[in-house]
Amino acid sequence: MEKRDYYEVLGVNKNSTPEEIKKAYRKKAMEYHPDRNPGDKAAEEKFKEAAEAYDVLSNPDKKARYDQFGHEGLRGAASSGGFDASDLNSIFEHFGSIFGDFIGGGFRGGFGGGFGGGFSGFGGGQQKAVRRGSDIRIRLKLKLEEIAEGCTKTLKIPKQVTCAACGGTGAKDKSSIVTCPTCQGRGQVVHQQRTMFGVMQQVMPCSACHGTGEVIKDKCPTCHGEGTVKGEEVVTINIPAGVQDGMQIRERGKGNAAPNGGIPGDLIVVIQEEENAIFERDGNNLYLNYYISFPQAALGAEVEIPLVKGKAKVKIAPGTQSGSVLRLQGKGLPEVNSRRVGDLIVNVNVWTPTKLTKEERQLIEQMNGAENFIPKPTKKDKSFFNRVRQFFEDR
Ligand SMILES: [Zn+2]
Ligand SMILES: [Zn+2]
Repeated sequence: MEKRDYYEVLGVNKNSTPEEIKKAYRKKAMEYHPDRNPGDKAAEEKFKEAAEAYDVLSNPDKKARYDQFGHEGLRGAASSGGFDASDLNSIFEHFGSIFGDFIGGGFRGGFGGGFGGGFSGFGGGQQKAVRRGSDIRIRLKLKLEEIAEGCTKTLKIPKQVTCAACGGTGAKDKSSIVTCPTCQGRGQVVHQQRTMFGVMQQVMPCSACHGTGEVIKDKCPTCHGEGTVKGEEVVTINIPAGVQDGMQIRERGKGNAAPNGGIPGDLIVVIQEEENAIFERDGNNLYLNYYISFPQAALGAEVEIPLVKGKAKVKIAPGTQSGSVLRLQGKGLPEVNSRRVGDLIVNVNVWTPTKLTKEERQLIEQMNGAENFIPKPTKKDKSFFNRVRQFFEDR
């Protein structure tokens, strides 16, 4: 296939400045970027063609040869830094910073992190802004059972989504996107202010184009130029085991879509723990009030103590006093992102009957005054604080 003229490819001429050439390439690269045109082979070819043209026209030596001899003049010329215009990854590696400063986020080319506020991610010498969608905060109520095991929640999140009609550009069509007349496409303006110290200059993002360097002549009728519309997204969130009330889980890029192909905000899930009917939580430990009958306390018994999931068989020793504390190791809650598991602390109470049949009353009356039924607490039994201290010393 006959190679097209490089100037024609980028829409510039022999007298264009390096800055104009760079800008022209950036525009083409954005337009034909594979991430914006998934599966579009023709766009990919145009993307490669633009990279090849820019590789030559941005290099004074190659440009001079090309100007004099055309494509023939470049035969055998070494490409700069192993650059290969037929390989997408090579293009991203080589020129990524040129369009990376604008797009960032999910786009390829090694310019991932570091996008915080509304204006960040500058690079490549051009101070142009990345617009970022706002974060969405939601509260998520979880039962103790869900916290104990971790869970997956699928939620329908109402949010701003990219406008399908314009692909998020906010423009009626491609020709409606023009260079911002206020900043001439630079994305920033210089403010001069007269102060008592003299004239102060301040570089600010251009408010006419929000720092993007481009404005829209004819707005998309669907989104009125916003690039985003009200919509919803089904988001699946993995909740790790052991989360606590108030903890936040951040789902990157699941917040509101950004206008003009910017970076979407995050979805912040705030954990809300539902109160449990029988367990109380303290960190990773769970507390449970458990009642045994007087005969069980006196004779000893094997009881089933409820766990968050299932039950545990526990031996109650003969002569167990009300207020005894049992610790079931590892039966509490797991610690988030750790192998540690808390304990279940059981406060054993002896149940005093509140109503009695005639026969029951007679039975108890027989015990009344019997030698071993008269309380004889030792110091250890008497001291509630001792028991508490004992418990913490055992840990
Ligand atoms: Zn639109
Ligand atoms: Zn502007």
